[in-house]
Amino acid sequence: MNDALIIVGAGHAGGRAALTLREEGYSGRLILIGDEAHLPYERPPLSKGLLQGSIDLAGCSLCDEARLAELDIEHIAGNPVRQLDPAQQRLQLADGQWLAYAGLLLATGGRARRLPQAQANVLYLRTHDEALALKAALRPGARLVVIGGGFIGLEVAATARGLGCDVTLLEAGPRLAGRVLPPVISEALLDVHRLHGVEVRLNVALESIDADAVVLVDGQRLPCDLVVVGIGMQPNIELAAAAGLDVGQGIRVDAHLRTSAPNVYAAGDVCEFRLDGQYQRQETWRNAEAQGRHAALNLLGRELAFESLPGFWSDQYDWGLQTVGVSTALTVSRPLPTGGLLLFYLDAEHHLQGACGWAPGNSVAKDIKLCERLISARIPLNPTSLADPDLSLKQLLRG
Ligand code: FAD
Ligand code: NAP
Repeated sequence: MNDALIIVGAGHAGGRAALTLREEGYSGRLILIGDEAHLPYERPPLSKGLLQGSIDLAGCSLCDEARLAELDIEHIAGNPVRQLDPAQQRLQLADGQWLAYAGLLLATGGRARRLPQAQANVLYLRTHDEALALKAALRPGARLVVIGGGFIGLEVAATARGLGCDVTLLEAGPRLAGRVLPPVISEALLDVHRLHGVEVRLNVALESIDADAVVLVDGQRLPCDLVVVGIGMQPNIELAAAAGLDVGQGIRVDAHLRTSAPNVYAAGDVCEFRLDGQYQRQETWRNAEAQGRHAALNLLGRELAFESLPGFWSDQYDWGLQTVGVSTALTVSRPLPTGGLLLFYLDAEHHLQGACGWAPGNSVAKDIKLCERLISARIPLNPTSLADPDLSLKQLLRG
């Protein structure tokens, strides 16, 4: 009889699940399988501190070797799972070995979406090894073209400017991070990048990438030494799909993060779950952390429905962006004394549903924490008070 719990994907969600299983008292065999050569690590520093040189891989890791050994977590590195056999509750590794499971978590994350052009000067950023390759190329004076005005593109552009690179950023859409941020924040991002010397071009269509230039459809050539492409993430669903699990844009789960196969759960970027009745994925640190923990509890039979407020942050130059909750049509804007901005999203009864802040340093974090408490408190809020920078959020929380 096999009682092993197996986690496929030794990234953030997978690593967090393994640690949680032990913290929660699971004492059976626990196997964490990754295709990367490293201990489980968090990715946010890859586009920020790791590129700048202020943090290394050990600083991004969820735990060290000694902790894994102490917790008796068998970490199989650099040996991806090639095949799942849900009927027999077993899986096969790339080296041919079969492992049986009593419970399985799929936390396979995603990979950087590729452009068809394969040039030596084109780099992507998803993994630590890709970040190291990029770090080596970001020399002072290097001419960098960034393709994609989402978070990878914006954070790499900011870091590269700090390292003395000459940066042009190309975005296909009409504004920066347009799918996840409101227009006023896209504008603020545009201002700060232009202020720091990034040449930002919007509504740009790419023709080709040559060894020494990016060529646009209108014929313009942008000479460069290096191209970084950040045009989105492709979820790693192939393993689950080939095994017959229900997949959409991710691996589909029910409210307990259970997939369509018995005793198989999914968590993190690859997990497609229902929020407000719609299937969607969250590609954020907060979600990987929360779902990794949650799936671990349910692997232990807790039968808990997953509920969590979405949210994320981004750091660019000396500015910080943070969001929590969901956006609605009823938006109230509060200018901040620091020069930043806080947006509140209300429902028809004026209950706070979400908030988004952009301000120097980490100053907006405190406001977003208070917004999170206001969302939970479900106190009807006066839009005029919300817009008033002199009225503290703490005061609103007290009613
Ligand atoms: P991952 O961390 O991608 O882990 C999945 C792991 O599974 C990978 O190691 C993958 O190689 C492995 N794997 C895949 N298939 C197999 C297989 N068949 N067998 C074995 N292993 C497999 N979010 C924020 O909220 N704020 C930020 O500032 C922020 N910054 C980011 C910066 C960068 C550069 C990147 C790339 C992401 C950033 N994110 C940020 C997003 C956040 O890091 C992700 O949402 C999070 O890493 C998702 O965790 P995950 O465990 O689901 O996936
Ligand atoms: P992303 O956030 O989805 O943004 C991709 C951007 O590229 C979009 O603005 C997209 O425009 C644009 N684009 C697509 N094709 C293009 C093309 N051919 N030419 C020019 N622009 C193009 O993806 P990402 O920035 O690559 O990030 C990848 C993953 O890392 C995501 O999961 C992201 O959440 C995560 N990440 C998060 C953070 C953070 O939260 N702080 C930081 C870094 C990375 P359209 O929207 O119009 O398609």
